[in-house]
Amino acid sequence: MEFATVGDVLRRNAAAHPDKTAFVFGETRVSFAGHLDRAEQVARAIAAAGVALQDRVAVMSRNTRAFMEVYAGAELSGYIVATVNFRLAAPEVQRIVSIARPRILFYEAAFEPVVETLVGSGVQLFVAIGGEPAAWAVSYEDFVATADPAQPLASPDIDDILHLIFTSGSTGTPKGVMRSHRTELAVCNYFATEIEMQPEDRLLLMMPVFHVGHRFMQLGGHFRAAEIHVQADFNPRAILDTIERERITITHLAPTMVKALLDVPGVDARDFGSLKSIVYSGAPMPVPHLEHGMRVFGDVFLQLYGMSEGSATTLHRHEHRIRTAQDRQRLASVGRASRGVALRIADRADRAVPIGAVGEVQLRAPTIMKGYWNDSEATVAALHGGWYHTGDMGRLDEDGYLYLVDRAKDMIISGGENIYSREVETAIASHPMVEDVAVIGFPDAYWGEIVLAIVVARDPAPSAETVIAHCRSQIASYKKPRSVVFATDLPRLASGKVDKVALRRAFGRTADAAASSGGSPAPA
Ligand code: AMP
Repeated sequence: MEFATVGDVLRRNAAAHPDKTAFVFGETRVSFAGHLDRAEQVARAIAAAGVALQDRVAVMSRNTRAFMEVYAGAELSGYIVATVNFRLAAPEVQRIVSIARPRILFYEAAFEPVVETLVGSGVQLFVAIGGEPAAWAVSYEDFVATADPAQPLASPDIDDILHLIFTSGSTGTPKGVMRSHRTELAVCNYFATEIEMQPEDRLLLMMPVFHVGHRFMQLGGHFRAAEIHVQADFNPRAILDTIERERITITHLAPTMVKALLDVPGVDARDFGSLKSIVYSGAPMPVPHLEHGMRVFGDVFLQLYGMSEGSATTLHRHEHRIRTAQDRQRLASVGRASRGVALRIADRADRAVPIGAVGEVQLRAPTIMKGYWNDSEATVAALHGGWYHTGDMGRLDEDGYLYLVDRAKDMIISGGENIYSREVETAIASHPMVEDVAVIGFPDAYWGEIVLAIVVARDPAPSAETVIAHCRSQIASYKKPRSVVFATDLPRLASGKVDKVALRRAFGRTADAAASSGGSPAPA
């Protein structure tokens, strides 16, 4: 069947498998017919509130049923869902809202203090998910009840935008990745095929659904009419219990989460016989963790490398084997270009480099975004010449396996979350006692990388705690430095840019010592 919109997948599922379970949220099971019915109500209520085709609706929520319904309403009726990472600080959320200009903001009651700062910012309606709504908001259920069954729904075009996924971007300015019905239909096919999803599969998804990882897994699952179990939090023991109890066949984890599951006492005595695939992505997975995981969970690992802008490579389950030295070496790769993806390694002038040489990973694929919302400069920089410029540096081997070696974009990945150095630097530099600052990432056994700030202080100098507390007031807690060191000046390149290679060399040991003395920091 040819689908013209992502909403057609929902309609097909409701027609072909009305009673089959689409979603499981704790004790609540929702059938495909039930999900379509609710999605239509939500879409009608949103239309009745004056939201037209391609107007934006923002969501700041954990993985709630309401979030999935708002997504599904957009699939059916053509408004755009702009996602807001619920861990962001008020100034960051304000920037996203000023770019996306949503008419409605759906928010989970726990985030009310941040959302309150948006009252008067042009958002016309605030809808509270769960809990008592504030005086300036309405409750989600009251809002859905305003739907008029006679309200006609608009029909989106295949090239209309379905979501704006906000990423921070190396400039520190949020960028809304435009994902259209066409790109998301390509994602449906890509995820269902690469992961070999089947209608009998039971997926367990707990990464935040404002990230593409969870969202794309969901699209693939729906495409195969599989059952999707959603959890809002990452509780390692609860995840293991759910896998055993619900006979989960596919799950998706960041490498840090795999490590956390392996650390649960008694993990190797459990029954993971139902598991077919553990999909991991988002950050490099240390090979020893992977080997440990394969001993405990079996030959179930499948790696994806990609980004909010599109999909790139797969290291399939059968490529996760350790028979030869070459097999082991390949575990450190991100696999080969996935089906339908053209991948090349290019130099600064966008010329393809020879096999084995390091350059930027560039992609051409049907899953690649349309561009960045209202940001033609960033769009041209990312997509010029018909290739998506990932900002990741890598090399290919003779057999087409891709090894990521560095990032051209100044980005730190901590626990699977991307942190752009620039936004942490901007936050710290706004403190009056700070003269200059540079932020770098350092390897950490648990988090993958941690944030280290090197600060040149004014007189009087701030304490490390003051710097961290100030940073926390400006940006999300998980982006704050785990460690602050003070220096008299920062090394610079001839171009005037801070020489981060020199900083990494100079401060590596300091960061390691700080991380090991404090142990693994708690999730922010
Ligand atoms: P995001 O847009 O938040 O999904 O982040 C995408 C970035 O995460 C990529 O450009 C890579 O730098 C990194 N990334 C994603 N998947 C992997 C992976 N499997 N291995 C290493 N890095 C990854």
